[in-house]
Amino acid sequence: MPRITSRVSKLPLYAVGALAARKRELVARGVDLIDLGAGDADLAPPPAAVEALVHGAHVPALQRYGFGVGYYPYREAIAAFMQRRFGLAFDPATEVVPLIGSKEGIAHCALAFLEHGDVAVVPEPGYICYAGGTLLADADVHAYALRADQNFLLELSDVPPDVLARTRLLYLNYPNNPTGAIAPRDYLERVVAECRARDILLVYDNAYSELAFDGYVPPSIFEIPGADEVAIEFHSLSKTYNMTGWRCAWAVGRPPIAGALARVKQFIDTGHYMAIQSAGVAALESWESFVPGNVATFQERRDAAVAAFRAEGFAVEAPLATMYLWIPLPAGLPSALFAERLLEEHGVVVLPGSSFGDGGEGFVRISFIVPPERLAQAARHAGQVLRSLESHV
Ligand code: PLP
Repeated sequence: MPRITSRVSKLPLYAVGALAARKRELVARGVDLIDLGAGDADLAPPPAAVEALVHGAHVPALQRYGFGVGYYPYREAIAAFMQRRFGLAFDPATEVVPLIGSKEGIAHCALAFLEHGDVAVVPEPGYICYAGGTLLADADVHAYALRADQNFLLELSDVPPDVLARTRLLYLNYPNNPTGAIAPRDYLERVVAECRARDILLVYDNAYSELAFDGYVPPSIFEIPGADEVAIEFHSLSKTYNMTGWRCAWAVGRPPIAGALARVKQFIDTGHYMAIQSAGVAALESWESFVPGNVATFQERRDAAVAAFRAEGFAVEAPLATMYLWIPLPAGLPSALFAERLLEEHGVVVLPGSSFGDGGEGFVRISFIVPPERLAQAARHAGQVLRSLESHV
């Protein structure tokens, strides 16, 4: 048997992937599954994006290799979006990196900035690919436990000095998956200042920048003075436009930083299918006609989910952004046990907090990605499981 590297054997379990097989079995058995697992809504993408893809599939020039440059109007549409939405200027040629999903870019970014022996500070609970990218780059993960009593904000000052001395990269994600937390501006200013002082790359994952409620408008990290020197920011069409399967995303950063990621990608992929990039242009250009209505649908679902889970006895906060409720469980009740019982006895998929790292224990995440009546049904089942397990804690 050929040797498999320690990089691979150190990778954590990929919870959403591991669930897929069990879900298939349950559906095959006729179970009416309510899937609140992945952040993957049942809603349609903008019609203009679908039309652009269909059209693009017939254009010979779009069937060829895109290489790193790709379909240039996509870069221009991204730069125009960043200008319109955040008031920030990025050069389409040198400061925009088209990605095949932001997951791809986030994971590959570590290859450009981490060496063996370096540390990346990784929020826990958090998007599992931060740890994955770090381990594949042969570097060390320092898991930082996000805490409700600190508003789920990661403070570099809490990282032990010897670890901080080896830290080359910090992952931040606000609005946050899975906690729904948001980052105040003074917090972001503090983190940018600390990263500048220590030459730490700030990987700012802004996948949920457009999915915010109650008038909250998430910022770009580049609105913070000094971020240009240390940050790279990741955006995605996945959540904003219900285009998770299209794998259409980008990074922005100043040329030395964005260029390093682009350089890695030159040797890994040959660019995204350009018809999809052309659909990305159509999506970005349909922001005004599409996004506010889509957000309103999510807001209605958020409100329905919060009300339904509270009615069943869960002390859940209403998040100002994202598509997730981060629901605390009674102390001592293992989240994996709760999630397993909910799936096996009631066909409701939720993610145990422990699948986001040890720091996520004590919570479960639900994605409010289905209509209110299905959320209410799921909450009733969750309440039944809660009551049946409460006697165990
Ligand atoms: N970042 C966060 C925080 C996410 O939750 C996700 C997906 O769930 C991603 C990045 C990846 O999104 P995509 O690869 O679809 O662009």
